[in-house]
Amino acid sequence: MRLVLPYNARFIIDRLQQSGYTCYAVGGCVRDSILGREPADWDFTTSALPEEIEAVFSDCRTINFGKQFGTIGIILDNEQYEVTTYRIDGEYSDSRHPDAVSFSTSLQDDLSRRDFTVNAMAYNDTEGLVDYFDGQRDLSYGVIRCVGVATNRFAEDALRILRALRFASTLGFSIEPSTSAAILSGRKMLSAVANERISIELLKLLCGKNVDFVLRRYRSVFAVFIPELVGTFDFEQNNKHHNRDVYRHTVAAVKNIEPDPLLRTVMLFHDIGKPLSRTVDKYGVSHYYNHPVLGAAMTEEILRRLCMKRRFIEDASILIRNHDYRITPDPVKIKKLLGKLGVETVHRLYKVQRADILAQSNYQREEKLDNLSKVEAETERIIRDGECYNLKMLAISGVDLLHIGITDGEAIGKTLDLLLNRVITGELSNDKDRLISAAKAM
Ligand code: ATP
Ligand code: MG
Repeated sequence: MRLVLPYNARFIIDRLQQSGYTCYAVGGCVRDSILGREPADWDFTTSALPEEIEAVFSDCRTINFGKQFGTIGIILDNEQYEVTTYRIDGEYSDSRHPDAVSFSTSLQDDLSRRDFTVNAMAYNDTEGLVDYFDGQRDLSYGVIRCVGVATNRFAEDALRILRALRFASTLGFSIEPSTSAAILSGRKMLSAVANERISIELLKLLCGKNVDFVLRRYRSVFAVFIPELVGTFDFEQNNKHHNRDVYRHTVAAVKNIEPDPLLRTVMLFHDIGKPLSRTVDKYGVSHYYNHPVLGAAMTEEILRRLCMKRRFIEDASILIRNHDYRITPDPVKIKKLLGKLGVETVHRLYKVQRADILAQSNYQREEKLDNLSKVEAETERIIRDGECYNLKMLAISGVDLLHIGITDGEAIGKTLDLLLNRVITGELSNDKDRLISAAKAM
């Protein structure tokens, strides 16, 4: 088998070979190349020791990730290529760097330490594909299978459990039965894995094309590090807007939105507050009045625990808090929403609402979708026409109010807010002279 290596990959392999070492592209880049996908990054494995790698590339910018891991980063054309000495691993505490490693002179040792057969292939132009574990066969059948005995491999590093689900989701692969059984039986070991590592895999998994299958089939795995999800499992909604329990609705909603980490995370948690906020009316119908607010608070806690970035947590929380907001094509309401949330969040909110509607029952579906389309069209018109919806867009500022003698800071703020409100409602036009006379009159 012949793969097309990019120029810089050939350069790295050639240099090491010319210096008397062996070197291969390895792991995800080989897998993705065979699949005809663009690899996210290129990694290499070599017989050269870290200091030897540095010596061979002494004329290039290099980064030493710690000699104990055996990885040297080589920067070519502003891209980083990781070159790692063949090694046999000890325990892992993050997804790339085990706590203790010993170097080896054998490529086979290095490939044996890798997680799945499809990730355990190496390639260079001289030797072609090196595939000791039938990775190519599993790739062509679309199977995730551990290298070696699955239960042992997950016991060495439980993150591999989530990585298996991640690849099943992103590649659309099935999981080989003994690997699958070991995932389910070993799932509790995930609670010992660092949350930072978990969240990286979780976000990738959520953006996969097979996310719905993985979330349904392996829900007990997710429950290990997100126990809050358990309340939604099989939780019947008992409400005509829904024909699925909360978890199945959630999974459908995740699948319905574009594969963006934030949007998929929002859909995963948008209804997590439902089980705890149920009330039943006199007709026996369930309602969940406060669930967006409760759900946003629960989500913040979950995402903080998973060490997600602060900005990401805030964005997710705002969208969940507002996901059920009944917006109408009324320009005043839309402008108030734009003023409160900003354009970017409002655009995301509409995507969230559409994904949510499409995961609900058919009851009033056409009306809901039709309303949302009208809201979107009206929002675009407001933006296109440059209509004022926030203080920045107002034709006067605090300085103008100072000039007409309003000097108290609080009074300035209040006046501006009142003027903005009157502009939004259409009572006043966004015209400097008019606003000034209105301010004087107030
Ligand atoms: P991506 O496309 O996301 O980069 P990848 O397969 O390259 O996917 P990486 O996390 O970049 O994943 O890891 C590179 C390679 O290192 C993997 O293909 C695999 O061979 C090996 N690897 C990574 N993490 C582990 C692990 N926890 N256990 C065993 N091998 C691992
Ligand atoms: Mg990679």
